[in-house]
Amino acid sequence: MIARRSILIKLPKDKCDVDYIRRLMALTNLGYRNFEVLAPDLLKYVQHQLYGSFKNYMGSLVLGTIPKRWLVRAWVPLKVLRIYGDGFRKGDKGAPVVLDFENNVIRLRQVCKNEPRYVVTIPMPEWVVERVKEGGDIKFAMIGLKDNEPYLALVAEREVEPYQPSGYRLIVDVNSWRYGIAWGLIRNDRIISFKHEKPNLNVLLTLYYQAVKRGRKYGALMRMGSHHTTQGKRLRKQIYARKSRIYRITRDKAYFLASKLVKKALKYRASLIIDDMTEESRRELLEEKLPPDVIKLLMSNLKRFVHQLETLAQWYGIPYKLKRLPSTICPVCEHGLIQLPGRIMVCENCGFKAPRDLVPMHWVIKIEIERLPQN
Ligand SMILES: [Zn+2]
Repeated sequence: MIARRSILIKLPKDKCDVDYIRRLMALTNLGYRNFEVLAPDLLKYVQHQLYGSFKNYMGSLVLGTIPKRWLVRAWVPLKVLRIYGDGFRKGDKGAPVVLDFENNVIRLRQVCKNEPRYVVTIPMPEWVVERVKEGGDIKFAMIGLKDNEPYLALVAEREVEPYQPSGYRLIVDVNSWRYGIAWGLIRNDRIISFKHEKPNLNVLLTLYYQAVKRGRKYGALMRMGSHHTTQGKRLRKQIYARKSRIYRITRDKAYFLASKLVKKALKYRASLIIDDMTEESRRELLEEKLPPDVIKLLMSNLKRFVHQLETLAQWYGIPYKLKRLPSTICPVCEHGLIQLPGRIMVCENCGFKAPRDLVPMHWVIKIEIERLPQN
């Protein structure tokens, strides 16, 4: 199985011509549709990258970047030359992206400015070195704009065979941030450890209410037509700052947890079960009639968490599956469970009782026991 991980590197804006990159992105979109636009002012070298070698290489491009709509900007796929410490070279000599591990730099030839022999050199990020040490090879790169900032995306790939799992299982339950991400480590019929993980909700909600309060003030200014004043501008800045901080907090938590759980799985050579119940959690929050913005906040970056967890599991060869596990059905007698205050689930039929987030873990144990030979 081939596993892939991408690395995003911000390029120095002063050394890149953003308009030029934007133009290359537009031409790439056309390239995907088999149109060749021969712009006379464009360097031959770049034209060749776009329409010559690029074509053969398009089919092998498994990056999911084929633009769905006309005129949407597509990231420009580029070939990569790798120069390793021992002088060993891999890839096309004339590739526009050079990963030079000998000198620890990345060189971008001709793709940052429409100027002959224009080269941008950036230091090699530690992450790239790590991926390569783990056995990854970087055959593909892409250049493009994100929020009008130039970026280079490197795609590391690696052939991995998932390991043979030991008896351990790591179950990850993905709820909304209100109850957080619950994980349990299971061996045979025992839950060895269990934990809830979530960001500090008080901090998130404080930021949210501060943004709401400023939003109201801003609205009042707008009704008076004076939102372009210094005060109005300051309010807008403050609202934006709070919203993006909320986003960053949940994003960082998502990345942190994905890497923590992957380390745990590797340590025990556990198999990983991801129970993505975000849709169920969203409904739960809707039923509570929470404001849509709060729901959005409590759900932000959870999809990213699941995606990152899967990416890392593939990369490190952790056997994993996505599986929905019931949390409202009794794992002993399969009757419906009743929820008591404090998210405690009770079975009226057999007396089973457990916190809601532990029910899926009990289901894994049940499935496991049923799989064992009966005598
Ligand atoms: Zn029961």
